[in-house]
Amino acid sequence: MKGHVARKRFGQNFLVDHGIIAAIISAIDPKRDETVVEIGPGLGAITEPLMARVDHLHVVEIDRDLIARLKKQHAPDRMTIHEGDALAFDFASIGKDLRLVGNLPYNISTPLLFHLAEYVDIVRDMHFMLQKEVVERMVAEPGDADFGRMSVMLQYRFYLEWLIDVPPESFNPAPKVDSAVVRLIPKPVSELNAKSQEKLSQVVLTAFSQRRKMLRNTMKSLLSEAAFAELGIDPTLRAEDVPVEDYVRIANYLS
Ligand code: SAM
Repeated sequence: MKGHVARKRFGQNFLVDHGIIAAIISAIDPKRDETVVEIGPGLGAITEPLMARVDHLHVVEIDRDLIARLKKQHAPDRMTIHEGDALAFDFASIGKDLRLVGNLPYNISTPLLFHLAEYVDIVRDMHFMLQKEVVERMVAEPGDADFGRMSVMLQYRFYLEWLIDVPPESFNPAPKVDSAVVRLIPKPVSELNAKSQEKLSQVVLTAFSQRRKMLRNTMKSLLSEAAFAELGIDPTLRAEDVPVEDYVRIANYLS
């Protein structure tokens, strides 16, 4: 691996399948003047073909050895290297209309998605390689076993699209799990109908605290039977069966 020993603690599984890499680049379809930000460039599997398509690339990387390699390989006028933890990184410092890209370390993918939710106003889209199970949860629909808090909160904010399935042997070292590439496009403000995002988050958290229980039980402290009736929401539904827009209606009723 070009002299670099993959570090488990940084979730390093490097993409080596050229077909998959080409499919990712063509899904992103970057243009020269766009502000593309790659999280975790690693040994450059996606970085190099991105660099061929854009005038300038931003990368955020935590591993000092990999940062040193990147610095040797790329002049600052072509690549800005942001050294450090993407979970603590201020993406607004780069600019706006960002296109975020990353084959993310599986151990940080969920917290990173929540961190990035703070930057939706300045993000045009995101293309991420994630554990397939996580993508399944992201795109799950009411009634699916995978439909949960993450599905509701992400679907409220983003249009989601499952793009590419990626098997373990596409990486070196091969991870133990299947992966998938997903696209997230922030919804326009006009489609975000929750009066309070915090309230929505609280309602969803409460409902899914016991996903198999009826809403009338989990939401008892927040909503009376009369309130359910007024909203036209069946109180015998379980959290996993309630569509996103009904969570928004409950949150707005309580706001
Ligand atoms: N993009 C490369 C590829 O596709 O082969 C590497 C992908 S590897 C799964 C994840 C990359 O993210 C590694 O380069 C790793 O060092 C970096 N990384 C891990 N944790 C990070 C963090 N908290 N912030 C920024 N980068 C991180």
